[in-house]
Amino acid sequence: AQGQPGNSAVVFTQGLLDHQQDRLQLEARLSQALERGELELFYQAQCDLRTRKLSGFEALLRWRSPEGLIPPDRFIPLAEESGLIVPIGRWVLLQACRQAKAWHDSGLGRPIVAVNISPRQFQHPEFMATVHDALDSTGMNPRFIELEITEGAMMDDAESTIAKMAELRALGLHLAIDDFGTGYSSLAYLKRFPINRLKIDRAFVRDLGHHEGGAAIVQAMIQLSHSLGLTVVAEGVEDASQEACLRGWQCDVMQGFGYARPVPVADATAFMAGQCGR
Ligand code: C2E
Ligand code: CA
Ligand code: CA
Ligand code: CA
Repeated sequence: AQGQPGNSAVVFTQGLLDHQQDRLQLEARLSQALERGELELFYQAQCDLRTRKLSGFEALLRWRSPEGLIPPDRFIPLAEESGLIVPIGRWVLLQACRQAKAWHDSGLGRPIVAVNISPRQFQHPEFMATVHDALDSTGMNPRFIELEITEGAMMDDAESTIAKMAELRALGLHLAIDDFGTGYSSLAYLKRFPINRLKIDRAFVRDLGHHEGGAAIVQAMIQLSHSLGLTVVAEGVEDASQEACLRGWQCDVMQGFGYARPVPVADATAFMAGQCGR
């Protein structure tokens, strides 16, 4: 269609339709994925930077569709827009609590299990009931469950966000701000929210060692978090030089391919068992 401006509009419209049809198909399949047992949680180990020992796991959702593994970046936004994230998120939380309970009962260790909560799920009127249900039905100690919330979920209505967070904290749960630095909040603003922990987005960690500004930003985030009484997790740590920088700056926890990749539950259990013997 090059050089024929009349055609490019047609091509564009057709592309848009294809795209919308893809989306609808994906949404229809996603709505059945739960009942068909196609969803699965992978776990990525987190490492205490002082001891270099396992401190917890982040639960990361995987969809084994008949067409193969579909990455969360493709279906979570769709689930969020369609509202499917509410039942899916409920399942994720229950499943993660169940697994955490199994690990704690196994005697292999007492990892903290971090669970991603989407903005829509967090703001849903039944969210608190979902949390109670997951804790009650599994008997999991809430002190070892961490909810990861993005800045986007917090900004709509600060007062009700703070109230809900306070309720979650009163239950004993940990709260972490995920992807920190990619949203709009300032650290001063975060002081108002009853959170425990900040997760520095991978984009900042990636810049470490590549240009000087990157290091200054990460270091400042860690210092300010500590002065606000928060612990810090650095995401996306891939190499030893990044790890060394973070340890030098007293970052508390690291997570990234350099330490461990997200893996199925059996591999995560084996990883934990391997740490025990050290
Ligand atoms: P996230 O919460 O920021 O999760 C971290 C993502 O970074 C994961 O991608 C993980 O595999 C990836 N990652 C970890 N370490 C490294 C590293 O060293 N290098 C690189 N390049 N990547 C690393 P994943 O599993 O594909 O998940 C993508 C996003 O999907 C998550 O980002 C989260 O926003 C969302 N997500 C995943 N599971 C859930 C869930 O159960 N519920 C909700 N609401 N969202 C989820
Ligand atoms: Ca996360
Ligand atoms: Ca993150
Ligand atoms: Ca992310």
